[in-house]
Amino acid sequence: MSRFLQAEIDLRALINNFHFIKSIVKDANPKNKIIAIVKADAYGHGVIEVSRTLEHLKVDYLGVAFYDEAVFLREAGINCPILLLFDREVEGVFKYNLTPVIFDIKYAEELSNYAKRKNLMLSIHVKVETGMGRLGLYENICEQIKKIANMPNLKLEGVMSHLSVAEDYDWSLQQINKLTELKNCLKTININPLFHIANSAGLFFNKALFDAVRPGLILYGYATNRSLQGITPCMTVKTKILDIRRLPKNTPISYGKTFITKRDSLIGVIPIGYADGYFRRLSNRGFMIVRGKKAPVVGIVCMDITMIDLTEIQEAKIGDEVIILGSSGEEKITAWDIADWSDTIAYEVLTSLGSKAKRKYIY
Ligand SMILES: *Cc1c(COP(=O)(O)O)cnc(C)c1O
Repeated sequence: MSRFLQAEIDLRALINNFHFIKSIVKDANPKNKIIAIVKADAYGHGVIEVSRTLEHLKVDYLGVAFYDEAVFLREAGINCPILLLFDREVEGVFKYNLTPVIFDIKYAEELSNYAKRKNLMLSIHVKVETGMGRLGLYENICEQIKKIANMPNLKLEGVMSHLSVAEDYDWSLQQINKLTELKNCLKTININPLFHIANSAGLFFNKALFDAVRPGLILYGYATNRSLQGITPCMTVKTKILDIRRLPKNTPISYGKTFITKRDSLIGVIPIGYADGYFRRLSNRGFMIVRGKKAPVVGIVCMDITMIDLTEIQEAKIGDEVIILGSSGEEKITAWDIADWSDTIAYEVLTSLGSKAKRKYIY
């Protein structure tokens, strides 16, 4: 038996989640477009397989953070429109037919100049500041957009912003109102691009839907509203027990002796550690599932190894399956559970665990 660390990615769940999103969005406005966010290797789920699946479902756009991610998609044969969220590539966006998001005038000028020189047209989206404090035009926004819209060889296809506290209704409403003001300002001069601001959490604010939405997390089966029904997590992470040891009371476990057995114990040695995205913060706090039962992490999580207490699971055997993320029998560990045990968010859990394990796709 060699080390086994697998992330099972259920693409059927992805399809279900996509339809769920579509039902919310198209109920509000049948013309509303979906920009599926597949940055960070599709939140650790594998950007090619996820994007192929979404392309089959006729997603309107895929959204990536950086240029290299977009090139990777094009070279894999993905043809649907790609929104480039956080980069300032000039030449390559023409070569690979990408739709860049412009967050300052200078980038717009560079693109326009290049397009003019080569006699090409380029569709762009412009990002504006409404309260995220990260990227986007932030002074005389309407004027600046007018200027960009009039630059030669650029077609203003979209205007976007980003919710910074999507679960705070009043704050989000302020952001939404700023974007609406801008929309009205542009309308008076007959500029009518697609407006979008909603991430996953924003899907549940009718007013945030505008003309398009940019769901990420919810595609993968998680929501910031943890009790949301109708979506299914796509990722299961599992490994196998490397060793089992019967240790007497008062035996220290792992670095730093932070855990000392309080009884004669059965300790499982699990081949996953912080180098695999299993956070060190899960030391003495996390759980894994063995034979349908939850076993607590004992001692410090090492680089490649973590110990769990199997004393209550005497039937456990070397080579048994260990569920790190996912469900088995009656028990379930979600990305939110792991996030709570390690003071982070489901996003970081998925991107961390998903990027290190060997992926297996379920169609
Ligand atoms: C990551 C991201 C999203 C998706 O956010 P989720 O909360 O995962 O739905 C949407 N828009 C932008 C600009 C992003 O960076």
